[in-house]
Amino acid sequence: MRCPNCGSTKSIVKEKRPVKNKPEITRRRRECLVCKTRWTTHELLAGKVDIPTSHTG
Ligand SMILES: [Zn+2]
Repeated sequence: MRCPNCGSTKSIVKEKRPVKNKPEITRRRRECLVCKTRWTTHELLAGKVDIPTSHTG
């Protein structure tokens, strides 16, 4: 998973939670070790696809 700010692949997972009603998707809080940027990803368990979350509900 690349940092959206600097493009580094050196990131750690700060928090990991399942998404309601979507048990195959895991929501992860990540932090870049290089620039300290934090961001959230939604990943499918199979394939680890990063899903854009532009809308809610
Ligand atoms: Zn970074």
